[in-house]
Amino acid sequence: MDFATSNETQTLKERVRAFIDRQVIPREVEAQQPAADLDALRQSLQAAAKQAGLFGPQLPTSHGGLGLSWLEVAEVLMEAGRSLLGPQALNAAAPDEGNMHLLAHAASKAQAAKYLLPLASGQTRSAFAMTEPAPGAGSDPSLLQATARQVAGGWSLNAHKWFITGAMGAAFFMVLTDTITETAIEITTTNPKRRVNPTIFLVDADNPGLEIVREIKTLDHLAPGGHCELTLRNCFVPVEAVLGRVGQGFELAQYRLGPARLTHCMRWFGVAKRALEIAMHYVGTRVSFGKTLAEHQAVQLMLATSEIELHAARLMILEAAWKLDQGQDIRTEASICKVFVSETVFTVVDRALQLCGSLGVSEDVMLSTFFREARPFRIYDGPNEVHRVTIARRMMKAFAEAAASTANATEANA
Ligand SMILES: Cc1cc2nc3c(=O)[nH]c(=O)nc-3n(C[C@H](O)[C@H](O)[C@H](O)COP(=O)(O)OP(=O)(O)OC[C@H]3O[C@@H](n4cnc5c(N)ncnc54)[C@H](O)[C@@H]3O)c2cc1C
Repeated sequence: MDFATSNETQTLKERVRAFIDRQVIPREVEAQQPAADLDALRQSLQAAAKQAGLFGPQLPTSHGGLGLSWLEVAEVLMEAGRSLLGPQALNAAAPDEGNMHLLAHAASKAQAAKYLLPLASGQTRSAFAMTEPAPGAGSDPSLLQATARQVAGGWSLNAHKWFITGAMGAAFFMVLTDTITETAIEITTTNPKRRVNPTIFLVDADNPGLEIVREIKTLDHLAPGGHCELTLRNCFVPVEAVLGRVGQGFELAQYRLGPARLTHCMRWFGVAKRALEIAMHYVGTRVSFGKTLAEHQAVQLMLATSEIELHAARLMILEAAWKLDQGQDIRTEASICKVFVSETVFTVVDRALQLCGSLGVSEDVMLSTFFREARPFRIYDGPNEVHRVTIARRMMKAFAEAAASTANATEANA
């Protein structure tokens, strides 16, 4: 494995850092206002990023992006993440970044022209609608309640989704539903086994069958378009609205989620790094009991622990990005990264906040915002408990296979 960055990547990183410091961080105060227009701010920052030649680091050059490798994207997003507005400025924020990745992989030519190109240029936003209230899909996607029934000329969708990020103002939704075709086996008492045939549909926001019921008030506040509850009632979409193939929904959702979990880790790493910088600035100047806080051993332990954890987080991210570049399956690495980075970011931000004393909990520095915004990351993109279960299952399977192969080899040699 080789994570060494080229001179060009190093220069690009420095340009991103300068852009975030000079053009993005000074505008964070605008996002903090109660009636902030986050979309207008995002558009203005995107114009500045385009001018600086930093727009779309994760996009191919054919879509107006920088055409970087995953390793290079990692370096750029870890810098851009130092401001919560940075990834939005670069058009590399969730959920659009993951949606672009999926559309580039699965969209037909016509779908790409209609949905991907405006998204890639920053003209539109999008949303990914998978989660449902109980008894529907949450941690367990097989509980999917949303349905798509085949009707003349297309599909009729019925769904109740919630916590859909970016819904207000999105141009379209990628909606995951179960698909009921003429040949589908009905679930009956004699056939109780649930049969899910998941499909992703592209639904225009102005489809009369789709309604945004409400914006759900949450701990975090800085997602343009909020986190929303929505319903689809007899929502007609044409045959061309199917993304990929009917029944391919889980496979495509996985295709999106693997790298999307990793890019989340890259962006959040930047937040934790900035939190530590804010704390270092404070403890380096604040005097207490005759010396700066940074000279107190207990404070040094806290700083060093954060640095060690961030170092490990960074290496995990780079390893997974490198494997993606090699075309390797990173499901396990993405899970490991998601758990470790989401927990590390939270503890590093919490420690930074503690180190800054009362200033840390104020709105004068960004730490209280980081604290609020980072907490949900342990829940979305799969709760950490579920990732741990999956990691353990894969460990046990690999262990059993290795034991069986050793036993076979011993038998063959006997
Ligand atoms: C800020 C935010 C943004 C989001 N954005 C989107 C979005 O854009 N689109 C979208 O579709 N969804 C989105 N979600 C929803 C998110 O993906 C779900 O919250 C997540 O999948 C968990 O589902 P749930 O909330 O139904 O939790 P549940 O499935 O009800 O689980 C609750 C808790 O139970 C525990 N748990 C569950 N299963 C297990 C298990 N097997 N073993 C041990 N413990 C377990 C975990 O601690 C979990 O947190 C978002 C959520 C948040 C908070």
